[in-house]
Amino acid sequence: MNIKNYINGQFENPSSNSWIDNYNPSNGEVYGQIPNSSKEDVEQAYKAAKSAFPSWSQTTLEERSRILIKISELLEANLDRFAEAESKDNGKPVSLAKMVDIPRAASNFRFFGNAITQFASESHESVGQNAVNYTLRQPIGVVGCISPWNLPLYLFTWKIAPAIAAGNCVVAKPSEVTPMTAYLLGEICNEAGLPKGVLNIVHGLGTTTGQAIVEHPNIKAISFTGGTATGAHIAKVAAPMFKKLSLELGGKNPNIIFADCDYDDMLNTTVRSSFANQGQICLCGSRIFVEKTIYEKFKVDFVEKVKNLKVGHPSEKDTNIGALVSKLHLEKVKSYIEIAKEEGATILCGGEEVTVDGFENGYYLQPTVIEVKTDDCRVNQEEIFGPVVTIMPFKTEDNVLEMANKVKYGLSATLWTNNLKRTMRMSNQLQAGIVWVNTWMMRDLRTPFGGVKESGVGREGGFEALRFFTEAKNVCIKY
Ligand code: NAD
Repeated sequence: MNIKNYINGQFENPSSNSWIDNYNPSNGEVYGQIPNSSKEDVEQAYKAAKSAFPSWSQTTLEERSRILIKISELLEANLDRFAEAESKDNGKPVSLAKMVDIPRAASNFRFFGNAITQFASESHESVGQNAVNYTLRQPIGVVGCISPWNLPLYLFTWKIAPAIAAGNCVVAKPSEVTPMTAYLLGEICNEAGLPKGVLNIVHGLGTTTGQAIVEHPNIKAISFTGGTATGAHIAKVAAPMFKKLSLELGGKNPNIIFADCDYDDMLNTTVRSSFANQGQICLCGSRIFVEKTIYEKFKVDFVEKVKNLKVGHPSEKDTNIGALVSKLHLEKVKSYIEIAKEEGATILCGGEEVTVDGFENGYYLQPTVIEVKTDDCRVNQEEIFGPVVTIMPFKTEDNVLEMANKVKYGLSATLWTNNLKRTMRMSNQLQAGIVWVNTWMMRDLRTPFGGVKESGVGREGGFEALRFFTEAKNVCIKY
């Protein structure tokens, strides 16, 4: 199936008539083409957004809210269609897309549709000076949203929903590897009555289409989720134009397990936090540190559970691990398994490609557990972003805290313990934007989401996202 750009409420071919193949990771076949959009297409999308901006920013909050909630309802009504499309594009199990990706995309629109009606600004009386100050929160204008392939619709809408709720018009680009659900979203937006030009979706490569969005002098804010190297490049391009930037980047998250935790809950959740979505979630706990006293037991129990995970076709109901997103990514992940062997680590299970009957050219890999000797080896320091985790023991709280923080990333951390004082000490000191204690990836959309160090700049979620997509203006009136 070929897809088109969504500009000014219409579906358009790329102006150069240039196309990119779209692969189905479950069988390695090309199943459609996507626009290879140029600077001209981005310009056309910008113009549509600009002409829609003044009236959209003047639309009442009730009306904006109504449309966003309608989009949410239509996504829910089309759950199966969207989940199947997401799975075919990305390789993730359909069951996961149905349970997590699409419902969460719908929640994004519902949440920000409601949040905008509660987004109040402050006023300050300058006592003794006969003056009052108040703050206006004004939309920026035309903003750019660029998203990755791992949670395609979920992360795409995580940006778009607050941007339009706040009154901006958007030029957005999903990953070229997983464009399908973003394409389908255009239809839904028309059906929900979103005015033409408020959302424009341009498909294409990062280095051309994405770059054109970032370089555009009148797209004044960029919300980006993707790799750290791409984020650094975007920051450089955007800096001379003083653009507002929100960068959600890579991670290498520690999962720290103390002997006093609820063992069964920890074990089951750790399997999930290691391998959900084939380990391709920026929040996955890819470095597991286990207190020495329970290390050997954990190792046996964990490996046994991991070996029982079924790698299979994404549409099979009992599949736990689907296909990796692309051939290129599969090769990258496999190369890290080789690096682990060269570094003298032990592969406790997995490490091999899997051939799924009938889908021999799909990109399947066994879930892999690597026991590392030291925390500073490459597999323990670099983001692999696949079904691969490292494990190693630790002796003391100080010892594990030091190892947990000794990476360039700082997105999330998970802590398993029932000791309250330790929880407080550790969660204060872990260098991460998000700390989960005795759970993983429990999300409340009101909370700030983002990372420290090379995991990013800025926060998404709740009012933080609405603040990012607005400019604060102070008005001071003397009376
Ligand atoms: P990527 O950086 O290769 O691409 C992300 C998006 O940026 C894509 O749409 C791509 O086309 C675009 N892009 C690439 N080069 C560009 C350029 N020069 N200018 C503008 N846009 C450009 O990342 P990916 O491989 O798609 O995603 C995986 C990465 O995303 C991992 O590192 C993962 O940790 C990270 N991620 C982070 C979060 C988070 O919230 N922090 C969430 C999900 C994924």
